[in-house]
Amino acid sequence: MTAPYNPGLLEALQMRYARGAARMLIGGEWVEAQSGETFETINPSTGELIANVASAGEADVDRAVAAARAAFEGPWAKVKPDERTRLLLKLADLIEANADELALLETLDVGRPIQFSRMIDVQGAIGQLRYNAGWASKIMGETAEISAPGEWLSYVLREPVGVCAQIVPWNFPLVMAVGKLAPALAAGCTVVLKPAEQTPLSTLKLGELVLEAGIPEGVVNIVTGYGRTAGAALAAHPDVNKIAFTGSTVTGRAIIDAAKTNFKRVQLELGGKSPTYIFADADLSKAIPAAAMGIFFNAGQVCAAGSRLFVHESVADQVLEGVSTMARGLKVGQTLEADTMIGPLVSATQLDRVTGYIASGREEGAQVFVGGGTIGDKGYFVQPTVLLDTKPDMRVRKEEIFGPVLCAMRFSDAEDLDALAGRGNETEFGLSASIYTQNISTAHKLARRLKAGTIRINGSGGVDPSLPLGGYKASGWGRENGKAGIEAYTELKSVSVAL
Ligand code: ADP
Repeated sequence: MTAPYNPGLLEALQMRYARGAARMLIGGEWVEAQSGETFETINPSTGELIANVASAGEADVDRAVAAARAAFEGPWAKVKPDERTRLLLKLADLIEANADELALLETLDVGRPIQFSRMIDVQGAIGQLRYNAGWASKIMGETAEISAPGEWLSYVLREPVGVCAQIVPWNFPLVMAVGKLAPALAAGCTVVLKPAEQTPLSTLKLGELVLEAGIPEGVVNIVTGYGRTAGAALAAHPDVNKIAFTGSTVTGRAIIDAAKTNFKRVQLELGGKSPTYIFADADLSKAIPAAAMGIFFNAGQVCAAGSRLFVHESVADQVLEGVSTMARGLKVGQTLEADTMIGPLVSATQLDRVTGYIASGREEGAQVFVGGGTIGDKGYFVQPTVLLDTKPDMRVRKEEIFGPVLCAMRFSDAEDLDALAGRGNETEFGLSASIYTQNISTAHKLARRLKAGTIRINGSGGVDPSLPLGGYKASGWGRENGKAGIEAYTELKSVSVAL
């Protein structure tokens, strides 16, 4: 069997980070923070330091926004759509050529098992670029016949929205950075990208590849730093035209407040508490592993995680047994081992948060059916966990835990689809939902009744650069991906000519 990673590469990275703090990318230059401050990024599998990284403050954010502004008003505005396509495709090829390093960085920094870093992060980033590259030359305005007296030519232009701040969370740093960057660049915008302070390394490598691809300086700027400093400065910045954010609902609210200063456009992909339904007639050989991986994959650190399971009483024992067997059997462990399925949580803070939720569930009367504890004394590992006997008003049932913790509930034939949808819709969130049944009417009727941005029926895929992604209610504003995703990086301008 070939090694799941290249040990020589790991050593080279360790030597590089030992030489000094990683710098950030502003106006095509690799720079330290003006304050000279740095922060540490930690390997969550071991709790050990990986690297020190420049910690951006307001002055650095100002410089980055100025660089993005200069590029937007200057050279980037002259780059034709087909050239933007070429540059994005070139960046995709470079990511492919650097897949080993990017996957390794993601695994070290996020704590994602190496097999998934390749499959999800690297492949996902390449897919985003190749999809969005094609859009650069397909952004179309419209013409309109207006009703004013006389003869008119009226048309609607779609122009790039301008300088975009893009703030990314720590669960899927590379694919989310690229998923934000690609449509922005395709539409002709420039960006200041801020990775999460827990996971800056793959984004900095992406910056190197952006320069190597020949994307002009200042078009992509990367500021590394804390949310409360660098992130807040971006959200409030008067010269940023749009902010795109993925992260917690609490931070989403703070961003809305900060964005009010100059009415910058706001796009938010926030939390979820997504339901999975398994009906009596479901193909359980598919539904059981999907329900388990829907919450245990990435240690539950997925905004669209299926954290609430509604299962028909006639198959409930079988489903719970199957999900629990997976919970006990999935290999939780060191992320550089080829067969590890579940890694640690990203940080000590998240470990405290998730174990705190499990404790609160116990206190409020939930039964821990499987799991419920932490694993080992090094790194931030928590057992895949299933809770029974939860009530809608318990914190574990209504709040986003962001850990491998499933609340499982039964339903009976006494509940019609309206009642079932009501249970699914009972939280403040509306990001996604999954439905397992062989009855196509049941599946489509329930899909219509659920207030969720993404619905999956009898399968766990359904996230693709071509499909709008985002949420109802407190799960966000707007959609990323697809045509809606590219249009979200444009402004409309109506022009009327009296002929
Ligand atoms: P978590 O609480 O799990 O760290 P967040 O939603 O707060 O999740 O973090 C997601 C991203 O938002 C990170 O890049 C973080 O640095 C950034 N962030 C956090 N707080 C703010 C803020 N007040 N303004 C802007 N960005 C922020």
